[in-house]
Amino acid sequence: MPAPRRYTTEAIVLSRFDLSEADRVLTLITPQIGKLKAIAKGIRLPTSRLGGSLEPFAELSVALARGRTFDVVTEVRVGHAWLHLRDDLESAATAWYLAELADRSLEERHAAEPLYALLRRAYELLDAGMAPGRVARWYEVHLLDELGSRPEVDRCVECDRVLESNERFRWVPPLGGVVCERCPGPAHDRTGLSLEGLKLLKAYQRLDIEAIAELRLAPATEREVEADLREFVGIVLERDARSLAFLDEVRSPPAAPAAAPG
Ligand SMILES: [Zn+2]
Repeated sequence: MPAPRRYTTEAIVLSRFDLSEADRVLTLITPQIGKLKAIAKGIRLPTSRLGGSLEPFAELSVALARGRTFDVVTEVRVGHAWLHLRDDLESAATAWYLAELADRSLEERHAAEPLYALLRRAYELLDAGMAPGRVARWYEVHLLDELGSRPEVDRCVECDRVLESNERFRWVPPLGGVVCERCPGPAHDRTGLSLEGLKLLKAYQRLDIEAIAELRLAPATEREVEADLREFVGIVLERDARSLAFLDEVRSPPAAPAAAPG
């Protein structure tokens, strides 16, 4: 069913670019229409009524008129502004990363209610001050579920045997998950996966985010699972997210002193 000539929808801004000195094109995620591109005419002019409210990291109510190339934004109202999310650079960089993953995952104009709800929840959690890394991993795991690409972490992807805690595991994203120690796996040996890493991957699939937030985890395990999921998501979406470079930059600690000679 074609959308009516004028319609109003909830929306979150995923990305934007300036089209001219006055106009800006926005990529929006909406629950019912999915991803769509819309033009905000005159938004860059100081007199614009749209200017301040058509921003990322907020749930908006947007009125649009159907246009030939892009639908045209006619009115914006801010529903929820996740203002605290912007206070912390890592949290803001994570929010951009999550938006980029949603953008990459969606085709234009296909309903996207689960993904919209997932992004909305992730922004609420970042806004509430939850550790950005935990929110990002939780989001990645649920995004993979939505894409039908849930990593296999209970059975070996080669022989289908249930993994046991006293064996060695390898993480093989191109095969869809974990390979056991008995299977040859791919020609070149892939990343080893620690038992703690395997347990944490299972936790992200099984626990709700409140329980995940309470987990006491070794930083090395969190880094391991971050790298593992990053690789997996990169393969499912067929390339790495551009926003990761920025996220890594804001997180990198100040230059470490040179190691003592020895
Ligand atoms: Zn196996």
